[in-house]
Amino acid sequence: MADYDVIVIGAGPGGYVAAIRCAQLGLKTACVEGWLGAGGKPALGGTCLNVGCIPSKALLDSSHHYEHISRHAKDHGISVQGVEMNVGVMQKRKDKVVQSLTLGIAGLFKKNKIDWLQGSGKLLGANEVEVNPTTSDGKKQTVRAGHIIIATGSVPARIPPAPVDQKTIVDSTGALAFDAVPGTLGVIGAGVIGLELGSVWRRLGAQVVVLEALDDFLPAADKTIADEAFKTLIKQGLDIRLGAKVTGTQARDGGVTVSYELKGEKQELTVEKLIVAVGRKPNTEGLNAAGVGLKLDARGFIEVDADCRTSLPNVYAIGDVVRGPMLAHKASEEGVAVAELIAGQHPHVNLDIVPWVIYTWPEIAWVGKSEQQLRAEGREIKTGSFPMMASGRAKAMNETGGVVKMIADARTDELLGVHIFAANASELIAEAVLAMNYGGSSEDIALTIHSHPTLAEAMHEAALAVSGRAIHF
Ligand code: FAD
Ligand code: NAD
Repeated sequence: MADYDVIVIGAGPGGYVAAIRCAQLGLKTACVEGWLGAGGKPALGGTCLNVGCIPSKALLDSSHHYEHISRHAKDHGISVQGVEMNVGVMQKRKDKVVQSLTLGIAGLFKKNKIDWLQGSGKLLGANEVEVNPTTSDGKKQTVRAGHIIIATGSVPARIPPAPVDQKTIVDSTGALAFDAVPGTLGVIGAGVIGLELGSVWRRLGAQVVVLEALDDFLPAADKTIADEAFKTLIKQGLDIRLGAKVTGTQARDGGVTVSYELKGEKQELTVEKLIVAVGRKPNTEGLNAAGVGLKLDARGFIEVDADCRTSLPNVYAIGDVVRGPMLAHKASEEGVAVAELIAGQHPHVNLDIVPWVIYTWPEIAWVGKSEQQLRAEGREIKTGSFPMMASGRAKAMNETGGVVKMIADARTDELLGVHIFAANASELIAEAVLAMNYGGSSEDIALTIHSHPTLAEAMHEAALAVSGRAIHF
């Protein structure tokens, strides 16, 4: 006799959303989660709420305020003297934001009658989970369910030349907890985390050098956008060194010296703090995958089919621990879909139109394929671009950097990719995702009335530009 219809392992945006959707569908649900947050207190929300999306954006916003007041307010005729920064207060605000959201998930669990089984989950079979508490007052228990959803997420990847001690050499979690602005900051990896957190600490006054192993900058982004973003970030003061192969690190009084090779030449960089942001890896530690025959792929992700079914009957896996982009909204969508599948519905997640956002400023956002990808596939395409310089609202805001680029099929006009580098690109991209979700064309956006004056008019103009009829450029 099973204790539950569904047991979810992991309460990040994949797991907690799956649990809530299961409960909404009338399934008796438990969620196993062993995360310990501030003060060693158990917390729900996973990477995203505790050490990912949310705390990074809380600091990001604080850093925007600081940069705006200290550097850009004068452009609006506002002079402010004696601007001071208190990193302690910034960090406390961030912690409060995190706490209110993680407590919110606990409240949602209660409301939906989901049992939170505090501890780390280990599979004993396709229907059985052993829960080992991560607090001293918890008790070990074994629970059974008709279905299991694994949502154990990911952890930062490591590289041997830069061992993380969370003091001088840190990963993203350490980089969100600095108690003062480092005078000099090194970042290994010019990916999403490197650029976001590098930008946060640069805005707050650090001199930031980013070492990136690849010769290309943001190869997954459309090249037009990546080139423009690279120029802008360099102008802002991020010193991004491409083709830099890190070979070692050496502790120095009050910092660390990083050795690296650039174009075959040995180089050194001494900084107060070093962030290692070289990607994340799926987290299957402690699950007992080998013991129960749960198949992993060559890179350590749990193997799943298009519906997130694993190699074990009635066991599903979602989010960062399976193939596809490591993004919170992708994890949540899979969580909803698996819950609905278990309840007998026929859901579908379209991984081709998962939007990406990189929270630099201006922001980078895209959905669908890049021009270089489509050309490599031999697709016949047409493109339309609109520079933010020509947007009335962007001018009024003093945010004229960037461009919107749309790519459509040359024959059918179906939208194949939309790429934005602009203020608020994270919000603007939603229109493109909706259009592509409905199989929309550039003409559909061109025929849609956009409010004036808004940044969204740049989407309209880029769509008009696909057929050579942009009005304002
Ligand atoms: P996770 O959020 O990693 O949650 C997994 C949970 O499972 C954890 O709570 C863990 O404790 C638990 N767990 C693991 N093993 C067990 C076990 N055996 N038993 C019980 N529990 C277990 N994505 C975005 O979309 N937008 C962003 O802006 C963004 N910013 C980010 C910023 C940073 C600094 C980082 C690090 C990540 C960011 N991400 C962002 C990525 C995002 O956080 C992840 O894609 C997302 O959290 C994945 O969700 P998940 O539910 O799959 O896993
Ligand atoms: P990433 O894959 O985005 O970037 C890692 C970068 O490090 C790459 O450019 C890679 O070439 C480089 N690199 C790898 N090894 C290196 C080495 N030895 N020396 C120098 N450079 C090296 O990974 P990330 O920035 O760590 O982020 C991990 C994931 O977390 C992201 O891919 C994303 O899925 C998620 N995330 C998303 C957001 C968001 O949605 N805004 C924010 C943060 C994190």
